[in-house]
Amino acid sequence: MGGIYDVAIDLGGTIIKIGLIRNAEIVRFSTISSDSVKGLSHMLPKMERAIDLLLLEEGIDAASLSSIGLAFPGMVNPVECRVISTNDKYDDACDIDLCRWADDHWGVPLVLENDARLAVVGEWLYGVATGTENVVMMTIGTGIGTGVILDNKPIVGHHHQAGSLGGHLVVDYRGRLCSCGNIGCVEAMASSFFLSDIIRSNDKVSDEFKALADELDFKRLFEMMRQGDENATIVCNGCMSVWGAAIVSYIHAYDPEVVVLGGGVMKSSDIILPYIEKWVNDRAWTPIDRVRIVLSKLGDNAALLGLNYYLRSVKREKNVFKV
Ligand SMILES: [Zn+2]
Repeated sequence: MGGIYDVAIDLGGTIIKIGLIRNAEIVRFSTISSDSVKGLSHMLPKMERAIDLLLLEEGIDAASLSSIGLAFPGMVNPVECRVISTNDKYDDACDIDLCRWADDHWGVPLVLENDARLAVVGEWLYGVATGTENVVMMTIGTGIGTGVILDNKPIVGHHHQAGSLGGHLVVDYRGRLCSCGNIGCVEAMASSFFLSDIIRSNDKVSDEFKALADELDFKRLFEMMRQGDENATIVCNGCMSVWGAAIVSYIHAYDPEVVVLGGGVMKSSDIILPYIEKWVNDRAWTPIDRVRIVLSKLGDNAALLGLNYYLRSVKREKNVFKV
């Protein structure tokens, strides 16, 4: 038993992406808009319908499915298939038995992993970091996620959170209070989630500019910077310096060959990549050679394809049980 298709689900803050995967390729794809603050349980019926529709469109039924993978934006215990901690996204997920959900509806096992860890696995196996053995990926979006491949495998750690908390490395211990409870994390000092406060509390920008804080996002800020706007340049340079400082610390901690940058903010990679390359080259203690700083190749699909790595291991276990 067990089919040749898998379903991969990426639970984003505002969009849930669902891919039907065959031979490590996404053969069908759909999205559902979501509001992660309202929790996961009310989204499950919508996800069921979307998955069933993908199967119908492909002309297959649940018997052709091998497994379902779920990329979750929080801490998970993949061994027990449990969400263990959330941070304002799908906060009810800790109480949902997701493995049972997959088994009840499609009769298949479910693989659960942290979304940023999956993104680095995707880039390592199928994306821009193919052929390397040591990779750090930093995803700069609403928050900041990281994942690490060390010596050719994703690092996990005692509490399943190794490499996942790079957004909560402290870059200024006297800085802003973070949503995690710590002070001065990368995410608190330079992410979309805190952007209006970052603008308002910058004493180098004008009061007129501060008044616009709630209307500005990184896309707009980098556009203004391209047009020479002084205030936007001050804010963007400040945030890029924070990301650069964090990346130097990742390099010192994990000794990667390559650092992959992804996430929505990287749509302005034409400005961000050269800035961070210079920042890192000037400061990282890497006497042997330089660490490459590159843009994600898989973009929004990195976590979906990363799930394939874990889904394959489930299949191997299933085969063992069958014998
Ligand atoms: Zn934090």
